[in-house]
Amino acid sequence: MEAEFIERPQSVSDFQRMFRYIYHALNEAEYPKDGDLIARLIEEITRLMEFARKDRRTLFKEQMANIFSWSMAVVNRLGIDPQEALWEKYPGVCPYCLREKDCICGTEHPIVENKELALRRFRRERADRRPQTLKDHQELHLRLYSWQHDRELPIVVAAHLVEEAGEVSCAYRRLGMANSDTAKNFLFNELISEMADVMSWMFALANRLDFDLSEAIWEYYPYECVKCQKGPCVCQEVI
Ligand SMILES: [Zn+2]
Ligand SMILES: [Zn+2]
Repeated sequence: MEAEFIERPQSVSDFQRMFRYIYHALNEAEYPKDGDLIARLIEEITRLMEFARKDRRTLFKEQMANIFSWSMAVVNRLGIDPQEALWEKYPGVCPYCLREKDCICGTEHPIVENKELALRRFRRERADRRPQTLKDHQELHLRLYSWQHDRELPIVVAAHLVEEAGEVSCAYRRLGMANSDTAKNFLFNELISEMADVMSWMFALANRLDFDLSEAIWEYYPYECVKCQKGPCVCQEVI
């Protein structure tokens, strides 16, 4: 790609497109099976725990950008729209307590009646306030969750991200075992929702560590691969 055509991605869809451009060919060649691609995403997420355990915060940024890149590989492969998935799950409010600021789910466990109905209303009524950029999504999470997460150690926030990785794996495994269209639809929606949660906890962790995730991604992947520094990537993946 010629330098003059490169524009910094802004929306989640822009980032998704950028990663398709950099890695589509490599991923098709190296990861023909969807399950292997998902396994790789989970592997990269769990690697974060080593940095968290050793408190190597400087390594977080690059690894978070790397995890984001693998999460885009998965959504690109499965035909998931991550921007839609995020709005569906987080329509400007916490989907569990429905607060629009300073969620209290970590300490209190509010029981909200008719939650699905309320969430549908939020999606409709707040459509014009929908986060436009990746940074907007991170800021929404700051508003919703920083009050809660700022009192927790980064390893606790990172642990949530790893939990979500397990839930992605679970939804994918169950999807593979489903034997009716209804079950398949239900589990595919589960998988979409779990992918939104993975992104949500990435925002939470970036907020907790006080960096801009979109900036970090752009720093390591400016329309080119972090390793070979080519776009599209020409790496020979070493297994
Ligand atoms: Zn909440
Ligand atoms: Zn490369």
